[in-house]
Amino acid sequence: MICTLCPLSKSRKKAVPGEGDPNARVMLIGEAPGSSEDLKGRPFVGAAGKFLKTLLSGIGLSREEVFICNIVKCRPPRNRPPRPLEVQTCAPYLERQMEIIKPKLLVTLGNCSTAYIFSRAHLPFTGITAVRGKFGRVILHDVQMTLFPTFHPAAALYSAKYREQIIADFKLLKEELETSGTV
Ligand code: URA
Repeated sequence: MICTLCPLSKSRKKAVPGEGDPNARVMLIGEAPGSSEDLKGRPFVGAAGKFLKTLLSGIGLSREEVFICNIVKCRPPRNRPPRPLEVQTCAPYLERQMEIIKPKLLVTLGNCSTAYIFSRAHLPFTGITAVRGKFGRVILHDVQMTLFPTFHPAAALYSAKYREQIIADFKLLKEELETSGTV
């Protein structure tokens, strides 16, 4: 991927488009690559990724069975949040990924990706805390998808409270996957 559409292309080492099963039923969307991801060109391979892997295995899924990506495909300097123009410029890549993969379930990790999907689906968004752990329905690219926002796994690394809440959210996710037969 040799994209130069936004200034992040100047400071990144490697672009991180995302990876996983192109026919995945579950797509997880984070915010932007961090330093480990920037070095490897792979999403969620640092400390937050390690926790994400544990969460996935707790619901009976491996990284290879899902599709993991970010809203913004290149690392923002010093891990600052992506700027609105960067999100807007990069979003067509995520849109194309959703269009091709057609996931049944979208798990948005944190405020940034949740805000983007809510806006895309014309849903009012009042912050991740208000919507996390709740299932919604969205139609994107003519496909009905279940939407499940939760906190970003990096939040668990600095707060035990967030860690517990993410674990509780993934329990709900497991129940939903079992009852809906999504996976
Ligand atoms: N945080 C993210 O949002 N994405 C990654 O790939 C890694 C950390």
